[in-house]
Amino acid sequence: MVVLPRKIKYTMIHIMTQVTDNTGSTRFAFDNTYARDLEGFYSAWKAAQVAQPSLVKLNRQLAEELGLNADALDSVEGAKIFTGNEVPEGASPLAQAYAGHQFGNFVPQLGDGRALLLGEVIDRYGKRRDIQLKGSGRTPFSRGGDGKAALGPVLREYLMGEAMHALGIPTTRALAAAKTGEPVYREGTLPGAVLTRVAASHIRVGTFQFFAARQEFDNVRRLADYVIERHYAELKGHATPYLALLANVAERQAALIAKWMHVGFIHGVMNTDNMAISGETIDYGPCAFMDHYDPATVFSSIDHHGRYCYANQPKIAQWNLARLAETLLPLIDTDNDRAIASATDVINDFPDQYERYWIAGMRAKLGLTQPEEDDVEIALGFLKAMQGNHIDWTLAFRYLADAAAGPSSDAGRIRALFANAPDFDLWFQQWQTRLSRESVSLSDRAQAMRRVNPAFIPRNHRVEEALSAAVERTDYAPFETLLRLLLRPFDDQPEFAAFAEPEPGGHAGYRTFCGT
Ligand code: AMP
Ligand code: MG
Repeated sequence: MVVLPRKIKYTMIHIMTQVTDNTGSTRFAFDNTYARDLEGFYSAWKAAQVAQPSLVKLNRQLAEELGLNADALDSVEGAKIFTGNEVPEGASPLAQAYAGHQFGNFVPQLGDGRALLLGEVIDRYGKRRDIQLKGSGRTPFSRGGDGKAALGPVLREYLMGEAMHALGIPTTRALAAAKTGEPVYREGTLPGAVLTRVAASHIRVGTFQFFAARQEFDNVRRLADYVIERHYAELKGHATPYLALLANVAERQAALIAKWMHVGFIHGVMNTDNMAISGETIDYGPCAFMDHYDPATVFSSIDHHGRYCYANQPKIAQWNLARLAETLLPLIDTDNDRAIASATDVINDFPDQYERYWIAGMRAKLGLTQPEEDDVEIALGFLKAMQGNHIDWTLAFRYLADAAAGPSSDAGRIRALFANAPDFDLWFQQWQTRLSRESVSLSDRAQAMRRVNPAFIPRNHRVEEALSAAVERTDYAPFETLLRLLLRPFDDQPEFAAFAEPEPGGHAGYRTFCGT
């Protein structure tokens, strides 16, 4: 017997063209379904009061998208809201409960230890978005933590999220960064800050695990129904909705991880509590972009065994999805063996599904529009030419576009980049031969390649420069410059040419920290 979904209690409000509030108010048109419909899934809570709220950065474009009044929020009042000192009208602040596998070990209770969901708003496209404060003080889920965030990691999450968004990768985003005027104590004393984060939702694989671990399968079902309504509405009325939910979450993860791999993004801490059910990239901690291509690249200082290295990300996504599948088994089928069999099929499909997204994106990066069987070989051949030769991932693909405009095109930069790569010449010939079977005009091809191979990514040394200027010297100019150029990653922007380059001399052993 197939388990049918329980009727959902709330109705989604879709206001397709919400008008920006021009009354000069800092009003948020909250409509808080999580608070209303999922009682027992959170603790209602209040942010800690901070000494001296000041706004460091407001994401005006995102504010407009959310139907907010950016001018009104760019103010003392806004600073109070974005540090948690003032609760905007209609907010229902709460800390969400979740569990999670951290580096493979199950922790039955994590939860928002330093974050508060203020509520949900419907954006200009009719999409429901969470507004969350991160770093707003202790909650019932804080365990040993102080509930705070430091300015550096807050700005880092701001930059990374905006860069990913501009790269066309689903992600949570920063609405604001605000200083608290209070110190936080890590290895040393750092300025405290709060990030206001916008997400499709903050529901994680770990949210399902929280209830499944407690054998509260009614709650797993409530959560699954909520998720279907909110993120996978096309599955309503499906004959096997929970199996379909698993398959659809897997599909979005396959698409997402493929995009990460295309740009060399390494999340760094792909614990199940850091995997969003919506398919957005979430929880920018020790993440960083790979410079030279090495599948074993790890930046996170806590990832001692390389569990979350570049090349492992698809496998870890599948592992995390298997953990999600386990939570859904009693919903998928009342016969446990049958449930396991169907869920296993979905999980076993993941590598092929991922591969399809990966090769589709790689074709685009290599300028191939008419799929051929052997394209995987061409793609892998390029990676093989890079590997072991200290070749910058981003530059390699960007320079390839110059060389894609036919026989008369400029292959100088790509040849120079691969000067010491013995496999390159042969590969380059094979690629040129492969391109000759394409019917796309040469200039169109080069153009199309530049639209998928960014010139600008958040280079590690540039991110560090921007953060230290902000934190150590209260100089936000480097942060602003970096942010500005990262918002147009596919445009050449000659004035910022130096920002396209990897760190001169490289930076062996670059390390990132969770920085919480
Ligand atoms: P993260 O490593 O940021 O994904 O966080 C893992 C868990 O630790 C989550 O439950 C967080 O809410 C919690 N956490 C991280 N940093 C802090 C902190 N400074 N205070 C309290 N809880 C924290
Ligand atoms: Mg997390």
